[in-house]
Amino acid sequence: MANNILRSLPSIDVMLRHGSLSELVSRDGRENVRDRLREALDEIRREVLRGDGLPLPEDPESLAREVSRRVRARFESRHLGRTQPVINATGVVLHTNLGRAPLSAAALTAIGEVAAGYCNLEYDLATGNRGKRGSGLDAMFGDLLGAGAAAVVNNCAAAVLLTLNTLAEGGEVIVSRGELVEIGGSFRIPDVITKSGARLREVGTTNRTRLSDYEQAINEQTKAILRVHPSNYRIIGFTEKPELCDLAALARAHNLPLFDDLGSGSLVDLAGIGISEEPTVASSLEAGATVVAFSGDKLLGGPQCGIVLGEPAIIKNIKSNPLMRALRVDKLSYAALEATIASYLRGNAQRELPALAALHATRDEVGARAEYLIDRVIAIPCEVELRLIDGFSAVGGGSAPEVQLPSVLITVSHPRLSADDIEKRLRHNSPPIIARIVDDRLTLDVRTVQPRDEAAIITALQRL
Ligand SMILES: *Cc1c(COP(=O)(O)O)cnc(C)c1O
Repeated sequence: MANNILRSLPSIDVMLRHGSLSELVSRDGRENVRDRLREALDEIRREVLRGDGLPLPEDPESLAREVSRRVRARFESRHLGRTQPVINATGVVLHTNLGRAPLSAAALTAIGEVAAGYCNLEYDLATGNRGKRGSGLDAMFGDLLGAGAAAVVNNCAAAVLLTLNTLAEGGEVIVSRGELVEIGGSFRIPDVITKSGARLREVGTTNRTRLSDYEQAINEQTKAILRVHPSNYRIIGFTEKPELCDLAALARAHNLPLFDDLGSGSLVDLAGIGISEEPTVASSLEAGATVVAFSGDKLLGGPQCGIVLGEPAIIKNIKSNPLMRALRVDKLSYAALEATIASYLRGNAQRELPALAALHATRDEVGARAEYLIDRVIAIPCEVELRLIDGFSAVGGGSAPEVQLPSVLITVSHPRLSADDIEKRLRHNSPPIIARIVDDRLTLDVRTVQPRDEAAIITALQRL
């Protein structure tokens, strides 16, 4: 029996001509498929000789199909880690693990145009001389916020590191003990301050820090006062911290810069949808922050980047810091960011930016989409059971942790599959569908599902 199987095993050349592998050959190349084939055949030989593994078919055609199945499985697992689109059905709008903000159509067009050819990244079209990266953004942020000047780096973590290094290397930075935050992915304010070459001067207590605490800590070593938005946590109860404008007045009186790390830094007021504790960039600048830093792909709804805005003299020093070269962004990020800011300038951000649109969708709008999706699934007979329940979506991205956006969720159940089984099947779907398990039930939240992805969800549910 074992010998029969070994004798019927197809050769590599025969398998490479087998129809079931032709698609792989055209996608991944003949050499690559040959290598995986060799591995699959070796694996089968070893299994047969050891006498373990699943029983294998003896007839040559079925055996060839089994070999091909194993080769395809090998490619699948090798491809799984590659960056690929997934469908976000979690209802977490700025899901950091799923790439945060989806870009607007205008941003995608801008990326495509700039990526496909040359652009004026460091070329001054007015003079024909060498120009500066991102020189168009000063005017855009000026028009939008009245901000002095802008610098753009890889993310907000880089923006904080670079700004602290520029302002305070070798000196002290004063921070409240209530703001020594960890953002996740090992971004910890005390560690970033150390890496910037500055020394952390903690003041106040976890829950209460007064203006006088800052004032008493100022000495000739002090180079900056840092305010950090407690993005992903809240201190509630017996708490106190100075108003930003009072901190700004104190900083000005001592000729010190006040640096506000906003994290999300919304460009528009989101209090209307319950997000009231995320300060806007404008409010921070108005209150007198000398420089502010915020992410491009959190509430702003654009590409990954970190933006520093503020006093032109400081932004100039930031841009000439040697670290800037290591932290700068490429032409694609500028193209996407400028197109995103243009949506704000047109007053269309809520409509044009997918993340803002998702945040603003009402419970009833999400419910209507969910109901329509269910109707389309059950239009053909299938075993899956779908129900609507009330639930909540989340902002994500370490923003507004206390905010629950009222939503309508679809629960998915099946006579023979557990919630974990369904979750896994959907995750292994092509394209992968990422869902949440709430109270032992698998749930889909269409708030974060792009309309073009609905068809893929419908098919996947019908196939369960
Ligand atoms: C999210 C956040 C950061 C880091 O931003 P990234 O863009 O993810 O690097 C820094 N500071 C605060 C306060 C944040 O909320």
